[in-house]
Amino acid sequence: LLEESLARAQAHRGLNALISLNAHAAEQAAQVQRRVEAGELLPLAGLPVVVKDNINVEGTHTTCGSRILEGYVSPYTATAAQRLQDAGAVIVGKANMDEFAMGSSTENSASGPTLNPWADTRVPGGSSGGSAAAVAAEITAVALGSDTGGSVRQPAALCGVYGLKPTYGRVSRFGLVAYASSLDQIGPLARSADDLALVMNVIAGHDPRDATSLQAPPQFRAGTPDDLRGLRVGVIRESLEGNTSGVESSLDATLDALRGAGATIHEVSIPELRHAIAAYYLIAMPEASSNLARFDGMVYGHREAGSDLTQAMTLTRERGFGREVQRRIMIGTYALSSGYYDAYYSKAMKVRRLLADRFTAAFGEVDVLVTPTSPFPAFRRGEKTSDPLAMYAADVDTVAINLAGVPALSVPAGFEVVEGRRLPVGVQFIAPALQDELLVRIAGGLE
Ligand code: GLN
Repeated sequence: LLEESLARAQAHRGLNALISLNAHAAEQAAQVQRRVEAGELLPLAGLPVVVKDNINVEGTHTTCGSRILEGYVSPYTATAAQRLQDAGAVIVGKANMDEFAMGSSTENSASGPTLNPWADTRVPGGSSGGSAAAVAAEITAVALGSDTGGSVRQPAALCGVYGLKPTYGRVSRFGLVAYASSLDQIGPLARSADDLALVMNVIAGHDPRDATSLQAPPQFRAGTPDDLRGLRVGVIRESLEGNTSGVESSLDATLDALRGAGATIHEVSIPELRHAIAAYYLIAMPEASSNLARFDGMVYGHREAGSDLTQAMTLTRERGFGREVQRRIMIGTYALSSGYYDAYYSKAMKVRRLLADRFTAAFGEVDVLVTPTSPFPAFRRGEKTSDPLAMYAADVDTVAINLAGVPALSVPAGFEVVEGRRLPVGVQFIAPALQDELLVRIAGGLE
Protein backbone atom coordinates (compact mmCIF):
# COMPACT_ATOMS: atom_id res chain seq x y z
CA LEU A 1 0.00 0.00 0.00
CA LEU A 2 2.80 2.40 0.86
CA GLU A 3 4.57 1.71 -2.43
CA GLU A 4 1.37 2.27 -4.36
CA SER A 5 0.71 5.51 -2.52
CA LEU A 6 4.26 6.75 -3.18
CA ALA A 7 3.91 5.82 -6.87
CA ARG A 8 0.69 7.82 -7.09
CA ALA A 9 2.31 10.75 -5.27
CA GLN A 10 5.09 10.63 -7.85
CA ALA A 11 2.66 10.37 -10.80
CA HIS A 12 0.71 13.38 -9.48
CA ARG A 13 3.67 15.46 -8.33
CA GLY A 14 2.54 18.19 -10.75
CA LEU A 15 -0.37 18.88 -8.37
CA ASN A 16 2.12 19.94 -5.70
CA ALA A 17 -0.15 18.39 -3.06
CA LEU A 18 2.73 17.34 -0.79
CA ILE A 19 5.47 19.55 0.62
CA SER A 20 7.63 16.68 1.85
CA LEU A 21 7.68 12.91 2.13
CA ASN A 22 8.17 11.11 5.43
CA ALA A 23 11.68 9.66 5.25
CA HIS A 24 10.76 7.11 7.92
CA ALA A 25 7.60 5.79 6.21
CA ALA A 26 9.09 2.50 4.91
CA GLU A 27 10.58 1.68 8.30
CA GLN A 28 7.24 2.51 9.98
CA ALA A 29 5.30 0.34 7.51
CA ALA A 30 7.64 -2.57 8.27
CA GLN A 31 6.99 -2.02 11.96
CA VAL A 32 3.22 -2.15 11.38
CA GLN A 33 3.70 -5.38 9.44
CA ARG A 34 5.55 -6.90 12.40
CA ARG A 35 2.79 -5.84 14.79
CA VAL A 36 0.15 -7.44 12.55
CA GLU A 37 2.18 -10.63 12.22
CA ALA A 38 2.47 -10.74 16.00
CA GLY A 39 -1.32 -10.90 16.13
CA GLU A 40 -2.20 -7.26 16.90
CA LEU A 41 -5.54 -6.14 15.46
CA LEU A 42 -5.06 -2.64 14.10
CA PRO A 43 -8.03 -0.71 12.68
CA LEU A 44 -5.86 1.16 10.15
CA ALA A 45 -3.16 -1.47 9.56
CA GLY A 46 -0.86 -0.27 6.78
CA LEU A 47 -3.17 2.53 5.65
CA PRO A 48 -1.18 5.32 3.98
CA VAL A 49 -2.27 8.81 5.09
CA VAL A 50 -1.03 12.34 4.61
CA VAL A 51 -1.26 15.07 7.22
CA LYS A 52 -1.27 18.82 6.74
CA ASP A 53 2.11 20.46 7.18
CA ASN A 54 1.03 22.30 10.35
CA ILE A 55 0.72 18.98 12.22
CA ASN A 56 3.93 17.87 13.92
CA VAL A 57 5.18 14.37 13.16
CA GLU A 58 8.49 13.43 14.76
CA GLY A 59 11.34 13.36 12.26
CA THR A 60 9.42 15.13 9.48
CA HIS A 61 9.77 18.68 8.23
CA THR A 62 6.93 20.88 9.50
CA THR A 63 6.96 24.16 7.58
CA CYS A 64 3.31 25.31 7.78
CA GLY A 65 3.85 26.42 4.19
CA SER A 66 6.17 29.17 5.46
CA ARG A 67 9.74 30.19 4.73
CA ILE A 68 10.16 31.00 8.41
CA LEU A 69 10.04 27.28 9.29
CA GLU A 70 12.38 26.20 6.50
CA GLY A 71 14.52 23.33 7.78
CA TYR A 72 12.51 22.81 10.98
CA VAL A 73 12.21 19.12 11.92
CA SER A 74 9.53 18.17 14.46
CA PRO A 75 10.95 16.70 17.68
CA TYR A 76 7.57 15.18 18.64
CA THR A 77 4.27 13.97 17.19
CA ALA A 78 0.84 15.60 17.47
CA THR A 79 -1.74 13.52 19.35
CA ALA A 80 -4.02 13.09 16.29
CA ALA A 81 -1.09 11.89 14.15
CA GLN A 82 0.18 9.66 16.96
CA ARG A 83 -3.22 8.01 17.25
CA LEU A 84 -3.22 7.32 13.51
CA GLN A 85 0.20 5.71 13.80
CA ASP A 86 -0.77 3.70 16.89
CA ALA A 87 -3.76 2.38 14.90
CA GLY A 88 -1.40 1.18 12.15
CA ALA A 89 -1.58 4.07 9.68
CA VAL A 90 1.61 5.09 7.88
CA ILE A 91 2.18 8.80 7.32
CA VAL A 92 3.41 9.10 3.74
CA GLY A 93 4.03 12.82 3.73
CA LYS A 94 3.00 16.32 4.70
CA ALA A 95 0.37 18.18 2.71
CA ASN A 96 0.72 21.62 1.18
CA MET A 97 -1.25 24.49 2.70
CA ASP A 98 -1.69 28.23 2.79
CA GLU A 99 1.01 29.72 4.99
CA PHE A 100 0.03 29.14 8.65
CA ALA A 101 -3.45 28.08 7.37
CA MET A 102 -4.25 31.62 6.27
CA GLY A 103 -6.08 31.48 2.98
CA SER A 104 -8.77 29.79 0.94
CA SER A 105 -6.87 28.66 -2.15
CA THR A 106 -3.50 27.10 -1.15
CA GLU A 107 -1.82 29.82 -3.20
CA ASN A 108 -0.19 31.42 -0.11
CA SER A 109 2.44 28.70 0.30
CA ALA A 110 6.21 29.12 0.30
CA SER A 111 6.26 25.77 -1.54
CA GLY A 112 4.11 27.10 -4.40
CA PRO A 113 0.42 26.55 -5.11
CA THR A 114 -1.41 23.20 -5.14
CA LEU A 115 -3.49 22.55 -8.27
CA ASN A 116 -7.05 21.23 -8.31
CA PRO A 117 -7.01 17.60 -9.58
CA TRP A 118 -10.25 18.26 -11.51
CA ALA A 119 -8.85 21.26 -13.43
CA ASP A 120 -5.23 22.32 -13.15
CA THR A 121 -6.04 25.95 -13.96
CA ARG A 122 -8.06 26.11 -10.75
CA VAL A 123 -7.38 26.20 -7.02
CA PRO A 124 -8.11 23.22 -4.75
CA GLY A 125 -9.50 25.54 -2.07
CA GLY A 126 -7.68 26.12 1.19
CA SER A 127 -6.04 26.23 3.46
CA SER A 128 -5.92 22.38 3.53
CA GLY A 129 -5.74 22.25 -0.29
CA GLY A 130 -2.86 19.76 -0.31
CA SER A 131 -4.80 17.32 1.88
CA ALA A 132 -7.92 17.65 -0.32
CA ALA A 133 -5.97 17.25 -3.58
CA ALA A 134 -4.11 14.20 -2.21
CA VAL A 135 -7.39 12.47 -1.34
CA ALA A 136 -9.11 13.50 -4.60
CA ALA A 137 -6.12 12.25 -6.65
CA GLU A 138 -6.18 9.01 -4.63
CA ILE A 139 -2.63 9.44 -3.35
CA THR A 140 -4.14 8.35 -0.03
CA ALA A 141 -7.67 7.38 1.03
CA VAL A 142 -7.68 9.82 3.93
CA ALA A 143 -5.83 12.92 5.06
CA LEU A 144 -5.81 15.22 8.05
CA GLY A 145 -6.38 18.94 7.65
CA SER A 146 -7.10 21.75 10.07
CA ASP A 147 -10.19 23.95 10.03
CA THR A 148 -10.17 27.38 11.66
CA GLY A 149 -12.79 28.98 9.43
CA GLY A 150 -13.48 26.37 6.75
CA SER A 151 -10.05 25.04 5.80
CA VAL A 152 -11.10 21.37 5.81
CA ARG A 153 -14.64 21.78 4.43
CA GLN A 154 -14.07 24.29 1.63
CA PRO A 155 -11.16 22.43 -0.04
CA ALA A 156 -13.09 19.17 0.42
CA ALA A 157 -16.01 20.74 -1.47
CA LEU A 158 -13.81 22.16 -4.24
CA CYS A 159 -12.04 18.80 -4.71
CA GLY A 160 -15.13 16.57 -4.48
CA VAL A 161 -14.34 14.75 -1.23
CA TYR A 162 -15.74 14.67 2.32
CA GLY A 163 -14.32 16.99 4.97
CA LEU A 164 -15.31 17.14 8.64
CA LYS A 165 -14.75 19.99 11.10
CA PRO A 166 -15.40 18.29 14.45
CA THR A 167 -16.94 19.94 17.52
CA TYR A 168 -14.30 22.17 19.11
CA GLY A 169 -12.49 19.93 21.60
CA ARG A 170 -13.26 16.53 20.09
CA VAL A 171 -9.88 16.12 18.41
CA SER A 172 -6.78 17.12 20.33
CA ARG A 173 -4.92 20.18 19.11
CA PHE A 174 -1.72 19.08 20.85
CA GLY A 175 1.00 19.32 18.22
CA LEU A 176 -1.06 21.36 15.76
CA VAL A 177 0.73 24.65 15.10
CA ALA A 178 -1.77 27.23 16.36
CA TYR A 179 -3.35 29.78 14.04
CA ALA A 180 -6.38 30.94 16.07
CA SER A 181 -6.52 28.64 19.08
CA SER A 182 -10.18 29.23 19.99
CA LEU A 183 -11.27 28.21 16.47
CA ASP A 184 -8.69 25.62 15.30
CA GLN A 185 -9.74 22.00 14.98
CA ILE A 186 -8.07 19.07 13.19
CA GLY A 187 -10.41 17.16 10.87
CA PRO A 188 -10.31 14.29 8.35
CA LEU A 189 -10.80 14.38 4.57
CA ALA A 190 -11.89 11.17 2.84
CA ARG A 191 -13.73 9.73 -0.16
CA SER A 192 -16.43 7.89 1.81
CA ALA A 193 -18.45 8.20 5.01
CA ASP A 194 -17.05 4.83 6.09
CA ASP A 195 -13.49 6.13 5.92
CA LEU A 196 -14.46 9.27 7.87
CA ALA A 197 -15.96 7.06 10.60
CA LEU A 198 -12.88 4.84 10.68
CA VAL A 199 -10.53 7.78 11.12
CA MET A 200 -12.68 9.70 13.61
CA ASN A 201 -12.98 6.62 15.83
CA VAL A 202 -9.17 6.67 15.99
CA ILE A 203 -8.32 10.37 16.33
CA ALA A 204 -11.19 11.72 18.49
CA GLY A 205 -11.21 11.52 22.27
CA HIS A 206 -9.88 13.17 25.37
CA ASP A 207 -6.22 14.19 25.54
CA PRO A 208 -4.78 15.43 28.84
CA ARG A 209 -2.24 17.47 26.83
CA ASP A 210 -4.95 19.74 25.34
CA ALA A 211 -6.79 21.68 28.06
CA THR A 212 -9.77 22.28 25.72
CA SER A 213 -10.12 18.59 24.89
CA LEU A 214 -13.49 17.02 25.73
CA GLN A 215 -14.49 13.73 27.37
CA ALA A 216 -16.61 12.27 24.55
CA PRO A 217 -15.60 8.82 23.30
CA PRO A 218 -16.17 8.58 19.53
CA GLN A 219 -18.85 6.25 18.21
CA PHE A 220 -18.83 6.89 14.49
CA ARG A 221 -20.43 4.76 11.81
CA ALA A 222 -21.54 5.57 8.27
CA GLY A 223 -25.34 5.57 8.26
CA THR A 224 -27.86 4.10 5.83
CA PRO A 225 -30.95 5.74 4.25
CA ASP A 226 -32.84 4.56 7.37
CA ASP A 227 -30.92 7.16 9.38
CA LEU A 228 -32.55 9.91 7.28
CA ARG A 229 -36.16 8.94 8.02
CA GLY A 230 -37.88 11.57 10.16
CA LEU A 231 -34.76 13.76 10.24
CA ARG A 232 -35.66 17.46 10.51
CA VAL A 233 -33.34 19.40 8.19
CA GLY A 234 -33.19 23.21 8.34
CA VAL A 235 -32.02 25.13 5.29
CA ILE A 236 -30.43 28.42 6.35
CA ARG A 237 -32.22 31.10 4.31
CA GLU A 238 -29.27 33.51 4.38
CA SER A 239 -27.07 30.95 2.60
CA LEU A 240 -29.39 30.71 -0.41
CA GLU A 241 -28.30 33.98 -1.99
CA GLY A 242 -25.27 34.65 -4.18
CA ASN A 243 -24.63 31.05 -5.22
CA THR A 244 -23.77 29.87 -8.72
CA SER A 245 -26.37 27.81 -10.59
CA GLY A 246 -24.45 24.58 -10.09
CA VAL A 247 -24.29 25.17 -6.33
CA GLU A 248 -28.04 25.88 -6.29
CA SER A 249 -28.91 22.74 -8.24
CA SER A 250 -26.58 20.56 -6.13
CA LEU A 251 -28.20 21.81 -2.92
CA ASP A 252 -31.66 21.20 -4.43
CA ALA A 253 -30.68 17.67 -5.44
CA THR A 254 -29.50 16.98 -1.88
CA LEU A 255 -32.76 18.30 -0.43
CA ASP A 256 -34.71 16.07 -2.87
CA ALA A 257 -32.68 13.04 -1.82
CA LEU A 258 -33.33 13.85 1.85
CA ARG A 259 -37.10 14.23 1.22
CA GLY A 260 -37.09 10.99 -0.75
CA ALA A 261 -35.59 9.20 2.24
CA GLY A 262 -38.29 10.54 4.59
CA ALA A 263 -36.59 13.62 6.02
CA THR A 264 -38.53 16.89 6.39
CA ILE A 265 -37.12 20.18 5.10
CA HIS A 266 -37.64 23.45 6.99
CA GLU A 267 -36.40 26.98 6.49
CA VAL A 268 -34.41 28.61 9.28
CA SER A 269 -33.24 32.22 9.40
CA ILE A 270 -30.08 33.45 11.14
CA PRO A 271 -29.84 37.14 10.14
CA GLU A 272 -26.65 37.65 12.22
CA LEU A 273 -24.80 35.47 9.73
CA ARG A 274 -24.11 38.57 7.65
CA HIS A 275 -21.68 39.66 10.37
CA ALA A 276 -19.90 36.30 10.53
CA ILE A 277 -17.01 37.10 8.16
CA ALA A 278 -16.21 40.39 9.91
CA ALA A 279 -16.41 38.83 13.37
CA TYR A 280 -14.36 35.81 12.30
CA TYR A 281 -11.46 37.82 10.88
CA LEU A 282 -11.50 40.20 13.88
CA ILE A 283 -11.08 37.19 16.18
CA ALA A 284 -8.79 35.01 14.04
CA MET A 285 -6.27 37.77 13.26
CA PRO A 286 -5.74 38.96 16.86
CA GLU A 287 -5.27 35.36 17.99
CA ALA A 288 -2.85 34.79 15.11
CA SER A 289 -0.84 37.92 15.95
CA SER A 290 -0.31 36.49 19.42
CA ASN A 291 0.32 32.87 18.36
CA LEU A 292 2.84 33.84 15.68
CA ALA A 293 4.92 35.95 18.09
CA ARG A 294 6.98 32.84 18.84
CA PHE A 295 8.45 32.77 15.32
CA ASP A 296 11.36 35.13 15.78
CA GLY A 297 14.18 32.97 14.46
CA MET A 298 15.50 32.20 17.94
CA VAL A 299 13.90 28.81 18.57
CA TYR A 300 12.39 27.44 15.37
CA GLY A 301 13.48 27.21 11.76
CA HIS A 302 15.02 29.96 9.69
CA ARG A 303 17.13 32.78 11.22
CA GLU A 304 18.42 35.88 9.42
CA ALA A 305 21.73 37.33 10.54
CA GLY A 306 21.53 40.76 12.17
CA SER A 307 23.87 43.17 13.91
CA ASP A 308 21.89 42.73 17.14
CA LEU A 309 19.02 40.66 18.51
CA THR A 310 16.26 43.08 17.49
CA GLN A 311 17.55 43.36 13.95
CA ALA A 312 17.92 39.58 13.62
CA MET A 313 14.31 39.06 14.78
CA THR A 314 12.97 41.84 12.58
CA LEU A 315 14.73 40.58 9.46
CA THR A 316 13.71 37.00 10.18
CA ARG A 317 10.03 37.97 10.42
CA GLU A 318 10.23 40.37 7.49
CA ARG A 319 11.76 37.78 5.16
CA GLY A 320 10.30 34.64 6.72
CA PHE A 321 6.60 35.56 6.72
CA GLY A 322 4.68 36.02 3.48
CA ARG A 323 2.52 39.05 2.69
CA GLU A 324 -0.79 37.63 3.89
CA VAL A 325 0.68 36.53 7.22
CA GLN A 326 2.25 39.96 7.74
CA ARG A 327 -1.04 41.65 6.88
CA ARG A 328 -2.88 39.56 9.46
CA ILE A 329 -0.32 40.11 12.21
CA MET A 330 -0.63 43.86 11.65
CA ILE A 331 -4.44 43.90 11.54
CA GLY A 332 -4.62 41.57 14.54
CA THR A 333 -2.25 43.71 16.61
CA TYR A 334 -4.18 46.83 15.66
CA ALA A 335 -7.54 45.32 16.64
CA LEU A 336 -6.15 44.37 20.05
CA SER A 337 -4.46 47.68 20.78
CA SER A 338 -5.85 49.92 23.51
CA GLY A 339 -8.26 52.41 22.01
CA TYR A 340 -9.38 49.95 19.32
CA TYR A 341 -10.02 46.82 21.39
CA ASP A 342 -13.57 47.87 22.34
CA ALA A 343 -14.48 48.92 18.82
CA TYR A 344 -13.20 45.76 17.14
CA TYR A 345 -12.15 42.71 19.14
CA SER A 346 -14.66 43.08 21.93
CA LYS A 347 -17.52 43.75 19.48
CA ALA A 348 -16.54 40.69 17.42
CA MET A 349 -16.69 38.60 20.60
CA LYS A 350 -20.26 39.80 21.17
CA VAL A 351 -21.23 38.79 17.64
CA ARG A 352 -19.63 35.41 18.28
CA ARG A 353 -21.80 34.91 21.38
CA LEU A 354 -24.92 35.95 19.46
CA LEU A 355 -24.19 33.57 16.60
CA ALA A 356 -23.61 30.67 18.97
CA ASP A 357 -26.95 31.43 20.67
CA ARG A 358 -28.74 31.58 17.30
CA PHE A 359 -27.39 28.15 16.36
CA THR A 360 -28.54 26.75 19.70
CA ALA A 361 -32.02 28.23 19.12
CA ALA A 362 -32.17 26.79 15.58
CA PHE A 363 -31.33 23.34 16.93
CA GLY A 364 -34.43 23.61 19.12
CA GLU A 365 -36.46 23.27 15.92
CA VAL A 366 -34.41 21.06 13.61
CA ASP A 367 -31.92 18.20 14.03
CA VAL A 368 -29.42 19.46 11.52
CA LEU A 369 -28.80 22.53 9.34
CA VAL A 370 -27.67 22.57 5.72
CA THR A 371 -26.00 25.20 3.49
CA PRO A 372 -23.71 25.18 0.47
CA THR A 373 -20.08 24.72 1.60
CA SER A 374 -18.96 27.46 -0.79
CA PRO A 375 -21.01 29.82 -2.98
CA PHE A 376 -19.02 28.72 -6.05
CA PRO A 377 -16.95 25.76 -7.28
CA ALA A 378 -13.16 25.94 -7.68
CA PHE A 379 -12.10 29.39 -8.89
CA ARG A 380 -9.22 30.15 -11.26
CA ARG A 381 -5.72 30.39 -9.89
CA GLY A 382 -4.75 34.03 -9.46
CA GLU A 383 -8.37 35.17 -9.56
CA LYS A 384 -8.46 36.39 -5.95
CA THR A 385 -4.78 36.74 -5.03
CA SER A 386 -4.67 40.51 -5.46
CA ASP A 387 -7.91 41.10 -3.53
CA PRO A 388 -7.72 39.87 0.09
CA LEU A 389 -11.36 40.78 0.80
CA ALA A 390 -12.58 38.69 -2.14
CA MET A 391 -10.51 35.79 -0.80
CA TYR A 392 -11.97 36.25 2.72
CA ALA A 393 -15.49 36.27 1.24
CA ALA A 394 -14.95 32.73 -0.06
CA ASP A 395 -15.49 31.61 3.56
CA VAL A 396 -18.97 33.10 3.84
CA ASP A 397 -20.62 29.71 4.49
CA THR A 398 -18.05 28.17 6.81
CA VAL A 399 -16.66 30.64 9.37
CA ALA A 400 -19.76 30.94 11.58
CA ILE A 401 -19.50 27.25 12.45
CA ASN A 402 -16.06 27.72 14.01
CA LEU A 403 -17.28 30.79 15.91
CA ALA A 404 -20.11 28.68 17.34
CA GLY A 405 -17.82 25.69 18.01
CA VAL A 406 -20.28 23.22 16.46
CA PRO A 407 -19.41 20.39 14.02
CA ALA A 408 -19.98 20.54 10.24
CA LEU A 409 -19.35 18.13 7.39
CA SER A 410 -18.96 18.94 3.70
CA VAL A 411 -20.43 16.21 1.50
CA PRO A 412 -19.90 15.89 -2.28
CA ALA A 413 -23.24 16.94 -3.79
CA GLY A 414 -22.84 17.33 -7.54
CA PHE A 415 -20.95 19.15 -10.25
CA GLU A 416 -21.02 22.42 -12.12
CA VAL A 417 -19.69 22.46 -15.66
CA VAL A 418 -17.49 25.53 -16.17
CA GLU A 419 -15.52 26.09 -19.37
CA GLY A 420 -16.15 22.48 -20.35
CA ARG A 421 -14.79 21.08 -17.05
CA ARG A 422 -16.79 19.26 -14.40
CA LEU A 423 -16.10 20.99 -11.09
CA PRO A 424 -17.27 19.36 -7.84
CA VAL A 425 -19.77 21.07 -5.53
CA GLY A 426 -20.24 20.36 -1.82
CA VAL A 427 -23.02 20.93 0.70
CA GLN A 428 -22.41 21.37 4.39
CA PHE A 429 -24.40 19.77 7.19
CA ILE A 430 -24.15 21.41 10.61
CA ALA A 431 -25.07 19.62 13.86
CA PRO A 432 -25.36 20.62 17.51
CA ALA A 433 -22.17 20.40 19.59
CA LEU A 434 -20.98 16.82 20.17
CA GLN A 435 -23.30 15.39 17.52
CA ASP A 436 -20.51 14.87 14.99
CA GLU A 437 -21.62 11.24 14.77
CA LEU A 438 -24.99 12.32 13.32
CA LEU A 439 -23.22 14.09 10.45
CA VAL A 440 -21.33 10.97 9.40
CA ARG A 441 -24.53 8.90 9.61
CA ILE A 442 -26.27 11.41 7.32
CA ALA A 443 -23.35 11.29 4.88
CA GLY A 444 -23.60 7.50 4.77
CA GLY A 445 -27.36 7.70 4.27
CA LEU A 446 -26.90 9.93 1.23
CA GLU A 447 -24.20 7.85 -0.47
N1 GLN B 1 -9.77 30.96 4.89
C1 GLN B 1 -9.92 31.19 6.29
C2 GLN B 1 -8.75 32.02 6.77
O1 GLN B 1 -7.92 32.33 6.00
C3 GLN B 1 -9.98 29.90 7.02
C4 GLN B 1 -8.67 29.28 7.19
C5 GLN B 1 -8.69 28.06 8.05
O2 GLN B 1 -9.73 27.48 8.32
N2 GLN B 1 -7.50 27.70 8.51
O3 GLN B 1 -8.66 32.36 7.92
